[in-house]
Amino acid sequence: MGWGVLKTDVFIAGGGPAGLATAMEIRKHGLRVVVADLAKPPIDKTCGEGLMPQTVAALKGFGVTLGPAQAVPFRGIRFIGEGTVATGDFPAIYGLGIRRTTLHQALARRAEEVGVQSLWGTRVTGIDRGEVSLDSGKVHCRWVVGADGQNSMVRKWAGLDQGRPQESRFGFRQHFRVAPWTEFVEVHWGHNCQIVVTPVAREEVCLVVTSRSPQIRLTEALTQFPAITERLKGCPAITKDLGAVSALRILRKVSRGPFALVGDASGSVDSLTGEGLGLAFQQATALAKALAKEDLTRYEVAHRHINRPPEVMSRLLLAMESRAWLRRRVIDTLAKEPHLFGRLLAVHDGTFSPLDFGIGSFFKLGLSLISNPR
Ligand SMILES: Cc1cc2nc3c(=O)[nH]c(=O)nc-3n(C[C@H](O)[C@H](O)[C@H](O)COP(=O)(O)OP(=O)(O)OC[C@H]3O[C@@H](n4cnc5c(N)ncnc54)[C@H](O)[C@@H]3O)c2cc1C
Repeated sequence: MGWGVLKTDVFIAGGGPAGLATAMEIRKHGLRVVVADLAKPPIDKTCGEGLMPQTVAALKGFGVTLGPAQAVPFRGIRFIGEGTVATGDFPAIYGLGIRRTTLHQALARRAEEVGVQSLWGTRVTGIDRGEVSLDSGKVHCRWVVGADGQNSMVRKWAGLDQGRPQESRFGFRQHFRVAPWTEFVEVHWGHNCQIVVTPVAREEVCLVVTSRSPQIRLTEALTQFPAITERLKGCPAITKDLGAVSALRILRKVSRGPFALVGDASGSVDSLTGEGLGLAFQQATALAKALAKEDLTRYEVAHRHINRPPEVMSRLLLAMESRAWLRRRVIDTLAKEPHLFGRLLAVHDGTFSPLDFGIGSFFKLGLSLISNPR
């Protein structure tokens, strides 16, 4: 037993990006908050390490500042298909490539500055109304937030596990010491896997391979992508490969009584969307507002609204992943209409509303997809 019993307004299980962002947003409303994580900062995790423009804006809103030594800006997304390249620029603003450990360190530091109480190296072992059990004591609280990731135990304990059948894939990540050759996040599409390349430092890129098979690691996948192999020639891998499940998971509900879920614990989108962190940050703001009003139904509504567009985008990307003809048509079309690609990215990221995209643009895109055989 460590400290015995702690008292707080909100207890958060999981001090990853979602847990820390939620804690910082809760502090803005003057509530007391305790976060517990079984790991200690900086916490690493398999990730493409690309922050979309809205995610960067959310970080600024939390008061997290990142300098050029910590992150590398990127201008947009580039799809590299079998024979075709499509490039989409973000409108005016930029995304950031950042090592996951650097991001976590920055979030943990800011959380401490704004008065979040963190219990690192502490496992949550059970929850009840008004009380949370830890491996080192108990916490008495009004609200319990599960920010404990994909395999959330809080989700299970709170009875919030029901949802649509999830669609799972596998991702493996590794870093290489090489000067980034691109100002874009590159998505290289192969026949049974994709490699995402993100510049994360002046002399470093992050590669993630995603596929339906846990057997496909970067070494095997790279045989399909000679252009990347050429770039990496003589450039050593500087981290071991680290794997995770990338799941499209949609839950029926994300709150019940005094319990609420946030981040991957509350459902997730396919990693190719690059929106996991952005969703977590938007949810954090919405959840904090709902807790301040003592009304979690507001969060239910906001969560559905926040998650819907990337869920739709996940379905499109998963369809492209499994159908070569669709993949070719989408990439060919976007290559011919780069401004549409840019607008689509802006809608996807939430910078533009779908209404700003315009009926004319949707019509043009749809028409090109139908009448663009190769
Ligand atoms: C292959 C891949 C690539 C991705 N690429 C991107 C990308 O480029 N951009 C992007 O925005 N998103 C990306 N994502 C998604 C992003 O990584 C996740 O959405 C994000 O990590 C969610 O954060 P989280 O805080 O909800 O969960 P996590 O980061 O998983 O944090 C959960 C925390 O809970 C803690 N925990 C769990 N159980 C307990 C317990 N019982 N007690 C105490 N602590 C506990 C864990 O230690 C962990 O620190 C990618 C995901 C994958 C799989």
